[in-house]
Amino acid sequence: MFPWWTEKQKRLAEDLAQFVDEELFPLSREYERSLKFPWKIARKVADKGLFSIGFPEKYGGSGEDYGTVGKCIVNEELGRIGFGMITFYGTTVYGLGSPLTHFGSEYLKEKYLAKLTRGEILGAVCLTEPQSGSDAASMELSAHRDGDCYILNGKKRFISNAGVADLYTVYCRTDLSPEAKAKYKHLSGFIVEADTPGFTIEKVHELCGLDGVLNGVLNFDNVRVPKENLLAQEGEGWKVMTGALNAERVIGAAGQMGPTRTAIESTLEYTAHRIQFGRPINENQGLQFMIADMVTMWTMARTMIYSTAYLIDQGEDPVLEASVSKLYASECMMKVAHHAVQLHGGDGYTKYYPVERAFRDAKVREISAGSNQIQRLLIWRQALNRYRDLRQERKSMMPGKETKADLPRAILELLAEDYLAHPGLFTDKEDLKYRLGIEDEERLKTALLGLEKEGLVSLYRSRPETISLIKANHKGLSKAKPDDYYRMIPEWAQEDLQKRLKDIK
Ligand SMILES: Cc1cc2nc3c(=O)[nH]c(=O)nc-3n(C[C@H](O)[C@H](O)[C@H](O)COP(=O)(O)OP(=O)(O)OC[C@H]3O[C@@H](n4cnc5c(N)ncnc54)[C@H](O)[C@@H]3O)c2cc1C
Repeated sequence: MFPWWTEKQKRLAEDLAQFVDEELFPLSREYERSLKFPWKIARKVADKGLFSIGFPEKYGGSGEDYGTVGKCIVNEELGRIGFGMITFYGTTVYGLGSPLTHFGSEYLKEKYLAKLTRGEILGAVCLTEPQSGSDAASMELSAHRDGDCYILNGKKRFISNAGVADLYTVYCRTDLSPEAKAKYKHLSGFIVEADTPGFTIEKVHELCGLDGVLNGVLNFDNVRVPKENLLAQEGEGWKVMTGALNAERVIGAAGQMGPTRTAIESTLEYTAHRIQFGRPINENQGLQFMIADMVTMWTMARTMIYSTAYLIDQGEDPVLEASVSKLYASECMMKVAHHAVQLHGGDGYTKYYPVERAFRDAKVREISAGSNQIQRLLIWRQALNRYRDLRQERKSMMPGKETKADLPRAILELLAEDYLAHPGLFTDKEDLKYRLGIEDEERLKTALLGLEKEGLVSLYRSRPETISLIKANHKGLSKAKPDDYYRMIPEWAQEDLQKRLKDIK
C-alpha cells in the first residue's frame, strides 16, 4: 500500500487480496494447461462486482472515486493468478468501457455500459490489422455511410476476447483523403455487436503464452452498423482511441505487477526449500543478489505506476510517466520471470510452477499496447519537449542583447563565445535569435547564408530550407576573435609547455 492511497482504496486492496487467494487461485488451477477460456473466473469476477469499479453510478458503476489508483489495484490483484487468466477483464473494461464512458452517446451508455457494469457482457478492442500495427493511423478497415447505417469492410487481427466478446470497439477509416489523414481526422470508432451479419471470426491464434486468451482475426464483410453506434463524431476515431491512453498504460502496467509478484514469491519459497551442496540454494550470495534485483525492479515499477496513477487522478497529464510505467513494468516482468525460471532450475521449465507461465506471458507486453520501441520514441519526444520548455523558461530570465547593426559580425562573436564553452557543439538558431535580440527571421537567414557563402560558418538544416543549428568554423573563429581569446592553458601546464625533452638532464 502507498501512503497516498485513500481509505477506500486500501480497503479495496485488502478485500481483493482475500478474494483472489480464496476464490480465484483455486479456480485458476482448473484452467492451467487447458488453454480454455476461463469462463468460471469471469463469472466470479462479474459476481464480485468488479466490472463496475470506476464507472459512473448513473450506469451501474461503483462511482468514480476509486480513481485510476483503484483500477490499478484491481488489475494488479487479479493479475496474481496469471496475466492470461485476467486479460478478459482489462480488455472489456478499458477496450470497451473506457471509450463508451468518455465518448459514447447517452443512448449507447444506457444500452451497453449498464450491461458491462452489471457484468453481463465482455468486450474487445480492435485496432490492429494485417497491414497496420504500430502505425495504427494507417489502418484500412473501411466504414462508409449508407442511409441509417455504416457499412464496414476489412479485417482486424490479434484481437483479444475474439469470439467470446459480446461487443467490439472497432476503429475504421471513414475518410480516404490524405488531407484528413494528415490531420488525424480519417478514423471513426464504432460499437459492433457480435451477432451482426457479416461479422465472423476468421482465425484463433495459437499463442506463445497467455493461456486462456482467445486472440484472433476478425472479418468484416459488409457489416451494417447503425449510425447510433458511432463513438463521438465521425472523424474523431483517433481522439477516441487515444483519449484515455495515460490511464490505460498505467492500469495495464499494474496488471503485470500481480504475476511478477507471484513469480517472486514462488522464487523466495523455492530457493529456501531446495538443498544443493548441503545447504539451501538461497544461501548463495549470487542467488540472493538475483532475488534482490527482482524485488528492486518490482518495487520501482510499482512506485512508478502508482505515483503516475495518482497524478492522473489529480487531473495532470503525465504522458512521459505513463509511457515510462508501461515500458518499465513490461521489462521488469520479463527480467523477473527470466530470473525466476533460472532460480527454479529444471522445475522452472515445467508447468508445475507458475514461473514458466509468467516467462511466456511476459513477452507480449513488450510488443502489444504500443510496443516498447514506440514507448521509447514517445519518452524521447516528451523529454525533448520538456527540455525545450525548460530552456524557454530560462531564456525568459535572460536579458536579450540589442541588435547589432553589423549582424554577421555579432553572430560570429556569439558563436566564438559558444565555442569557448562548448567547442564540439552547434548553436541553436532560436538561441541565437534570442541572444541577438533579433525578431526578423529573414534578416537572420540572409546573414547566416552570407556567412556560409564566405566559408565562415557551417549550417545544419533539419529540412531543406530550415536552418536549425549553426557553428563557426576555423576561418569564422579566426575572424571573430584574435587567437589569444581562445587560449586556455591551465597554470599547471604552462611551465611544461616551455620545456623540451632534450633540455631535461
Ligand atoms: C497476444 C496479443 C494480444 C493483442 N491484443 C490486441 C487487441 O486486443 N487489440 C488490438 O487492436 N491489437 C492487439 N494486439 C496487437 C498489438 O497491439 C500489436 O502486435 C502491436 O501494436 C505491434 O504491431 P505489429 O505486431 O503489427 O508489429 P509492427 O508494428 O509491425 O512492429 C514490428 C517491430 O518493429 C518495431 N517498430 C515498428 N515501428 C517502429 C518505429 N517507428 N520505430 C522503432 N521500432 C518500430 C516494433 O516495435 C516491433 O518491434 C495484440 C497482440 C498480441 C501479440
